[in-house]
Amino acid sequence: MGTIADNLSRLVEEIRHTARSAGRNPAGIRLVAISKTVDPERIREARAAGQRLFGENRAQDLAAKAAALAGLDLEWHFVGHLQTNKVRQVVPLAALVHSLDRIELAEKIAARVPPAAPQPVLVQVNMSGEASKSGVAPADLPRLLDRIALLPEISVRGLMTIGPLTGDDHAVRLAFRRLREALERERTRERPGSSLTELSMGMSGDFAIAIQEGATILRIGTAIFGTRTG
Ligand SMILES: *Cc1c(COP(=O)(O)O)cnc(C)c1O
Repeated sequence: MGTIADNLSRLVEEIRHTARSAGRNPAGIRLVAISKTVDPERIREARAAGQRLFGENRAQDLAAKAAALAGLDLEWHFVGHLQTNKVRQVVPLAALVHSLDRIELAEKIAARVPPAAPQPVLVQVNMSGEASKSGVAPADLPRLLDRIALLPEISVRGLMTIGPLTGDDHAVRLAFRRLREALERERTRERPGSSLTELSMGMSGDFAIAIQEGATILRIGTAIFGTRTG
């Protein structure tokens, strides 16, 4: 691995190239640098190299890093499984919560934000059916979206998934394609407060496939910061 700046510039170039090759405008794809287990100094380094969006998967870490790096003009995303008792820590800090997957969580978030400033979220879908993964089952997605639509404090912006960890490109592509199809299908249903435009999918090992299948947000850690030891 090179320096964080080298890794970022190589990655950004690869994202652009992959987007153009797929006939997509690179400007329609945002990169969230997943900084879990990465200490604030290295996040600072990434910021100096031009990266502004960062993602954490634990509420305590998000709170600690946001405090340590206050004043740096960072945009924080929350991408991990969110326990209802951690909502209080996450909601004021996260520009986007990627991992809403149950109505109880939506209600807890709603109780923390004013309707005038609804919390932007993505609904996480478990496309692969792997039991270890969070996310609503695809069959339960329409009903969950219907129920969230009754909460004016929640603004659903799109869907998120984690690709199957099989290492099988075909399975990964199918999961991403099905998420995009679910987004297109749900977009045709009128629901107040939701505008389904974002697809958060693609990590270090599968972001090229995600771009080809329509990702608008990539969540990438290892390719920027190196292999996690913690
Ligand atoms: C860790 C993590 C990522 C980034 O994974 P890498 O393989 O390091 O790029 C993306 N999304 C979620 C939800 C994660 O927990």
